[in-house]
Amino acid sequence: MNSRDNLTSEQRFVFDYVDRNARAIALTGDNIFYFGELGMQEFETAALLTELLEKGGFAVEHGISGFPTGFCATYGSGHPVVAIHTEYDSCPDNSQVSGVAEQKFIVEGAPGHCEGHNVNAAVLVASALAAKQAMDKFGLKGTLKVFGGPAEEQLVSRPYFVRDGWFDDVDLAFHNHIGGEFSATHGLLQSALVSATFTFHGETAHSGVAPWKGRDALDGVVLMDVGMAQYREHMRPEMRIHRVITNGGDQPNVIPRTAAVWWFFRDQTAEGATKLFEQAKKVAHGAALMSNTEVTVDVLSAVWPLRCNRTVSELLQRHIETVGMPEWSAEEEALARALQTSAKVKVEGLKREIPPLSELKSPRTSANDAGDISWKVPMAKFYFPANVPNINFHHWAGGVTLAHSIAHKGAVAGSKAFAAAVVECFSNPALLADAKRSFKDELGDIAYKSMLPADQKPPVELNRAIMEKFRPAMRKHYLKERPEFL
Ligand SMILES: [Zn+2]
Repeated sequence: MNSRDNLTSEQRFVFDYVDRNARAIALTGDNIFYFGELGMQEFETAALLTELLEKGGFAVEHGISGFPTGFCATYGSGHPVVAIHTEYDSCPDNSQVSGVAEQKFIVEGAPGHCEGHNVNAAVLVASALAAKQAMDKFGLKGTLKVFGGPAEEQLVSRPYFVRDGWFDDVDLAFHNHIGGEFSATHGLLQSALVSATFTFHGETAHSGVAPWKGRDALDGVVLMDVGMAQYREHMRPEMRIHRVITNGGDQPNVIPRTAAVWWFFRDQTAEGATKLFEQAKKVAHGAALMSNTEVTVDVLSAVWPLRCNRTVSELLQRHIETVGMPEWSAEEEALARALQTSAKVKVEGLKREIPPLSELKSPRTSANDAGDISWKVPMAKFYFPANVPNINFHHWAGGVTLAHSIAHKGAVAGSKAFAAAVVECFSNPALLADAKRSFKDELGDIAYKSMLPADQKPPVELNRAIMEKFRPAMRKHYLKERPEFL
C-alpha cells in the first residue's frame, strides 16, 4: 500500500470519505443481505439504495425502462457523463447464515444472497457518494449517473436500459462485482446469453378414463428436452444450455393443458447464442408436432458478451494497486480456511496480493446483463475482495462471508478504488479521449445491435410468488439499524 504522501489530493479525499463511512457501507450490504430479494422483487433494496442516493444529493428516476426496482440516480450536468452500475438480487433456495463454515439456513428454502450482490450494491452507493463529494470539493464538471440493474441473475435489466436509450449520452462506464481477489481484466470477460420460455398448449382430459382425448402439453416439454439433449453432441465445448421446467401440470389425473420450460443459451458471441436459440426453436416446433400441441416462445432477455476496455481497466488497476489488499485478521483467515475445507475446494486462505492486469482472449462461460453496455461505451468491470477465494457462487458457501467482516473490509477497499477511478474521469480529460480511441480499435467492424425484440416488455412478475411465500419469515431477520452516510 502506498503511503498517504504519495496519494493525489482527490485520492486522499475519497479514501478518507470511505474510511469515515465504513460502518454505513457495512450496514448497507448487511441490510440488503437480510432482505435477500430475488430479481424483479428487490423493492426493499431499491428503496434503501435510492434513499441513500437522494440523501446524498442525487436526483433519482425510479422504475426506469418499466422495471419497478430499477433506477437511475444523477448528479451534475454536462459532459463527461460517467455511468456506474451494478446488481442487487439474490438467488433462490440459498438462505445461509453468515460467518459459519457449514450449511445453515436463515429460513429454510428461502432465497438468499450467495453471490455478493448485496455487497456490490453497498460499494456502488459508497463510491457514488464519495465521488459526488469529491466533485463538489474539487469543482469537477460533468455528470455522474448511478444505475441500479434489477434481476442480474436472470440477465434481465441492462439490455433493456441500453435498448431504451439510457446509455446514449454516456461517455464511459464501470461495473463492480465481488470476487475472491482485487483485480481488473481487459478483453472479453463473459459470454452472451439468450433467456427464453417455451410454453406448450394442449387440451385437458381424464388421464384414467379418456387419455386419448387429451393433448399433453407436458409431452411437448419432455420431447423438447430430449431433442435438446441429442443436440448437445453437436455443440462446441464453450457453449452451454440449461433449463428448468416452470410448469409441469397440476396433478397426474388431469392431462396438462399448459406446460412450460425456461431455457438459457450461452455462447462466446451474440451471434452464437442466437444460433443456439434458433436451433432450440426448431426443436420446440418438432416437439409440438410430435405431441399434437402448439408452442409459444417468449424472450425474457438477450445479452451480449461482457468486454472490458483496456483504458478503463488500466485506470482501475492503478487505483486498485494504490489502495492495496485489506489486512485480514487471524479470525478471518481461519474462517476462510474452514470454509474452503468444508466446501471441498483448494485450501489457501485469503488473498494477500493483487494480480497484475491481465487480458482475456476468450470469455468465461458466465454471463452478466451488463454486457450490452460494454459494446455501447468503453466500460470495464473490476472485482473487489469480499468473498473467499475458490468458493463458488449459487451455493450456500457463497453466502458465508456476505455479512461478515471479510465482506466489510473488501467493500471498503473496493469503494476506495472505484470512487478514485470515477473521480479521475472528471479530473483527467485525456483519459476519456484515450478510452474512446481504444474502444474504437477494440470494436473493429463489429456493430452492436440489441438482441432484444423491439417491443419486448420486462418480465415484472418474475419471482413474485416465491418472494410472497418467504418474505414474512425473512422479514423477522431484517436488521434494525439502517446505514447513515456522513
Ligand atoms: Zn453476480
